[in-house]
Amino acid sequence: MTTTYRAYQVSGHAEFTLVERELREPGPGEVRIRVEACGVCHSDALAAFGLFRADPATPIIPGHEIAGVVDAVGDGVRRWRAGDRVGVGFLNGPCNECDFCRRGDFVNCADQQKTGTTVDGGYAEIAYARASGLVRLPADLSAVEAAPLLCAGITVFRGLTDLGLRPDSLVAVQGIGGLGHLGIQFARALGHRVVAIGRDPGKAALAVELGADSYISEDPAEALQRLGGADAILATAADGGSMSALIGGLAPHGRLVVVGGGGGPIQVDTGQMLFPVRTINGTMVGTAIQTEDSLAFAVRHGVRSMNEIVPLSEAPKAFERMMAGDARFRLVLDSAS
Ligand SMILES: [Zn+2]
Ligand SMILES: [Zn+2]
Repeated sequence: MTTTYRAYQVSGHAEFTLVERELREPGPGEVRIRVEACGVCHSDALAAFGLFRADPATPIIPGHEIAGVVDAVGDGVRRWRAGDRVGVGFLNGPCNECDFCRRGDFVNCADQQKTGTTVDGGYAEIAYARASGLVRLPADLSAVEAAPLLCAGITVFRGLTDLGLRPDSLVAVQGIGGLGHLGIQFARALGHRVVAIGRDPGKAALAVELGADSYISEDPAEALQRLGGADAILATAADGGSMSALIGGLAPHGRLVVVGGGGGPIQVDTGQMLFPVRTINGTMVGTAIQTEDSLAFAVRHGVRSMNEIVPLSEAPKAFERMMAGDARFRLVLDSAS
């Protein structure tokens, strides 16, 4: 039996290095996972640029869209066994003891590591997670299909389902990228009227193919108001400025749901928030069981991430391409190849 595994670690300056790590036994409450696939997500930039770490120079293994198989379980793990197919997203497992957890707010657990950001993640053959963070994978979903749904998928799914919208509500999805192409599919499957918003007029056919009723490439606020105003806009572009231009397109009580981070401030005029009343909120992934719900929904309704699959050995290049916006639409590292 091998006692080491391959992984790509990254410094805080986006320098990737292939390393051999020693296998260790999982600690109490923890499992060891043989990684089969790991999605490359924009939030991997947190690892690559040393954010969220006390010392940015400390190398870390990025990757928080991990799909694989439980390889070993630590003391006290009762519900999971070696051989179980599991996923791990950005949240590495809540503590179940802090005040947030005691109120059922596991996403905001005060004692929870962030996979591939504050603890090593899935650009590797092996990963570790708290058992409380594990997502059971449906049999109908392969590892590469599941991986992007564990972060991008649950983010847009919860962003939409938390709104409590009526069927046939008008939902706009800004951006047809890694998040947006899933947002359109989920919004459609949830029974909404869907408008896709992008800059490139050439993407109209793709938007419709994904499930949008129409596509807007110019002056989104005015175009949405012509349709009666959006009940919700899922803002996926990592560009706050482009989100500012959407707010005027919201109907009374409409919500701008921010899911794409890292692109500068959103500017909003106070009057835009009052006449009519509107809301801007952020949303970030979901709990393990909400993620399981989103996977079951995706299987049932044929929601699929469009993936480019590359071997683990191409991780540094895959990260670079994702950052450059070249991915169509999610890059997934295949650790088995
Ligand atoms: Zn992510
Ligand atoms: Zn907690």
